[in-house]
Amino acid sequence: MQHQEIIDWLRESAPIRLDDLWRLADQTRQQYVGGEVHLRGLIELSNYCVRLCGYCGLRAGNAALRRYRMTDEEVMASVRSAVGYGYGTVVLQSGEDPQLTGPRISDLVRRIKRETPLAVTLSLGERTYEELASWREAGADRYLLRFETSNRRLYDQIHPPRPASGSNAERSRFAILEELRRLGYEVGSGVMIGIPGQTYDDLANDIELFARLDLDMIGVGPYLRHPDTPLADRNAWCDAPGGQQVPADETTTYKVIALARLVCPRANIPATTALATLNRAAGRELGLERGANVVMPNLTPQKYRALYEIYPDKACIAETGEACHHCLTGRIRSLGRQIARGRGDSPNHKARSTPDNTSVQ
Ligand code: SAM
Ligand code: SF4
Repeated sequence: MQHQEIIDWLRESAPIRLDDLWRLADQTRQQYVGGEVHLRGLIELSNYCVRLCGYCGLRAGNAALRRYRMTDEEVMASVRSAVGYGYGTVVLQSGEDPQLTGPRISDLVRRIKRETPLAVTLSLGERTYEELASWREAGADRYLLRFETSNRRLYDQIHPPRPASGSNAERSRFAILEELRRLGYEVGSGVMIGIPGQTYDDLANDIELFARLDLDMIGVGPYLRHPDTPLADRNAWCDAPGGQQVPADETTTYKVIALARLVCPRANIPATTALATLNRAAGRELGLERGANVVMPNLTPQKYRALYEIYPDKACIAETGEACHHCLTGRIRSLGRQIARGRGDSPNHKARSTPDNTSVQ
């Protein structure tokens, strides 16, 4: 798809034209990854973070947030509940927490792989090559690291280097994604939609980059303003001028899900919690009908959920794991879609491993 065509879709407002986009994305999803919806049990290990991302409530500078870190036993209890609900994958996510050391995560991954049949996805931020290699060696299957925006100037503004490291000491997120690919992980990335200063041109570049990176998983969601972060300061952060600013709204999020499906037909694409936060009644369902094929029920223990506050009013923080499970499986069935069994590996990753099957028709 050409750059201008992507921009035209992102700016499209006619419902009848958008219905064409939704239909095309839904047909492409059905053709390349099928009708089943994969459930990934999300476990938010820790809300400690050393980073100062301008958009996120977990940033180190947010003194208002009470911090927690799950014990290994708590994590394993959540992992066992994932098995009990029939999920094929657990996603271990956290802030960049130095106490979640390389060996500790390796031990945890080894234990999950020894005691369960689950695939393990990690989303633990920018970690050293040695850590990423050791976790892969321990059995981790997938890694999620969003590049957030491909506009380098905007990225540098919202994502300062690790304190005391200096920008030269850091690998870029793209370098890390490259390492993950070489290590044999299924590689996931994505962006936030509607970051102040993000233009339509930037977002079209992001979508084209999904294809060039040949992503196995694509996670996108609206930017949601957190009052205790620098990006929420309207005096310091401005929207892009001249009608160029991407809105952080529901329709634009569906458009990006649909376009991601069209440029990466075999990727696994979740209908995210951020989307459900914008539309609690039907956000996930509409995402699943417009290109998505994955949902991530939250298995974080109830007492910690509200503390993993990357943005306010997050969907599903009052529910237990069991309530989330029943709610989400009911919503999926109401769409006439089946819930997948098994690990739900990315068809894109499988196609890359068996080159004879790679041609996209
Ligand atoms: N620390 C890891 C990292 O940054 O990759 C994983 C956890 S981080 C909370 C996961 C994702 O949350 C980020 O990649 C970012 O896109 C998203 N996020 C953070 N703050 C957000 C906000 N205010 N609105 C929407 N998404 C946000
Ligand atoms: Fe930390 Fe990730 Fe939030 Fe950045 S986005 S502050 S790395 S948890």
